[in-house]
Amino acid sequence: MSDFLTWDHLDGLIAGLYIVAGVLFIAALAGLSKHESAKSGNIAGMAGMGLALVATLLKASQNAELDPYDDLRGVGVTLLIVLLTMSVGGSIGAWRARTVEMTGMPELVAMLHSFVGLAAVLVGYNSFLDPNAPTVGAEATIHDVEVFIGVFIGAVTFTGSIVANLKLSGRMKSSPVVLPHRHLLNLCVILGSVALLFWFTSFDGYAADHAALIPLLGMTALALFLGFHLVAAIGGGDMPVVVSMLNSYSGWAAAAAGFLLDNDLLIITGSLVGSSGAILSYIMCKAMNRSFISVIAGGFGSDGAVSGEVRDYGEHREIQADGAGDLLANASSVVITPGYGMAVAQAQYPVAELTAKLRARGIDVRFGIHPVAGRLPGHMNVLLAEAKVPYDIVLEMDEINDDLADVDVVLVIGANDTVNPAALDEPGSPIAGMPVIEVWKAHDVIVFKRSMATGYAGVQNPLFFKDNTQMLFGDAKDKVEEIIRNLST
Ligand code: NDP
Repeated sequence: MSDFLTWDHLDGLIAGLYIVAGVLFIAALAGLSKHESAKSGNIAGMAGMGLALVATLLKASQNAELDPYDDLRGVGVTLLIVLLTMSVGGSIGAWRARTVEMTGMPELVAMLHSFVGLAAVLVGYNSFLDPNAPTVGAEATIHDVEVFIGVFIGAVTFTGSIVANLKLSGRMKSSPVVLPHRHLLNLCVILGSVALLFWFTSFDGYAADHAALIPLLGMTALALFLGFHLVAAIGGGDMPVVVSMLNSYSGWAAAAAGFLLDNDLLIITGSLVGSSGAILSYIMCKAMNRSFISVIAGGFGSDGAVSGEVRDYGEHREIQADGAGDLLANASSVVITPGYGMAVAQAQYPVAELTAKLRARGIDVRFGIHPVAGRLPGHMNVLLAEAKVPYDIVLEMDEINDDLADVDVVLVIGANDTVNPAALDEPGSPIAGMPVIEVWKAHDVIVFKRSMATGYAGVQNPLFFKDNTQMLFGDAKDKVEEIIRNLST
């Protein structure tokens, strides 16, 4: 290092890089909030992360050089370890990102949240065992509390995200797993953790005194159970709120790790993720008509509601692609409501082509998007943007619901729970109270799906039996392509 730039002087440069990276992360969030600016938002995020990596490498080198306890590792060895672990993790991440199907994204995101949680737990334990950590006085108590909270949030996020991953990938049933006295159990876990916190902070010089490990381990076990229990008890229909809530928790876990590592950028980034995840959870709660407070307390969902109760709604009617083509050709207004099945079938490209064909005939075509359609917030918007459907005809549920009575034909493409009238008409239903796209108000409804099976929430859909509904069975992509061929002849 030159005389001008010594290891001691690097602080200013690192702080400057962190501030620029923090600003770029805020710009990324702002950009991602709109279709039109999402791409530039992504670029800002990547640039911010690039700078953050450079600053973190500089900080790691500085720490290695200045650490009085660390005479074994030089700067070179530290950099080598960091770069090696980064390239192993980065390669695995790049491979997963390249190979994952769009339909596998939700469970992948849940798995990534679990890594953030696990990292926060490991950082917490590492900080607990750090010989440099303060051992007496107020500083030690603050450090104790940071360790404890970091490990608690991390452990809840870790098991909660694993259960979310299992539920989203279908490896665990989506209906609620409810233990007796569920809320009392959660309360006991929280009170037990608070008691363990008092015990944990009562040790002086705890880093050397491994007796403090007992309350820390005890709380970790309780928090791991709490994460599992909170998410396992949530029914399929309420999973979107869980996904955004775990997103928020992972942010707070990262922020807690930032405090322990004395890393300002991690605190800023974690707080950004935590608060934007909390805002998203609030939006999701509003969209699903759930109370935000009860969500935070883990008491949401439809306690004990009967999922999948089979009722006799009468006979359903079927239509073929040529019949659907005729209905569309004679319509003057059409609304398309896509759902998870469109993602499974990868039907967004033929849907975009069909839209263009109908609009070329002077037919008014719009999309109605339910906020929780698919398996990720914004899932349908991403697919439609990918297929280059114009943004101005893609409307939110609230924008389209009032117009549906004047619409000639609604095409329900692989949507089920999000167009289920039981949410409004059947108070005992697991999805009761959730606003839905009221497609049945239109003159004709065509439902594209492969069978009469239920959607993710496991609830029968009376829409399929209404007089103005006709079922078009088969893979959504194949059926839309068949309609396009019929319209062209
Ligand atoms: P649903 O999951 O309710 O239903 C999807 C439908 O698509 C199924 O009924 C299925 O019927 C059909 N389908 C599947 N594959 C195909 C295919 N290849 N071709 C045609 N149809 C197909 O979808 P919605 O989007 O309406 O609802 C989303 C659900 O997921 C809600 O319950 C929501 O709460 C939940 N959820 C949402 C999250 C989010 O963030 N958006 C996150 C987690 C959960 P069939 O098998 O008969 O073809």
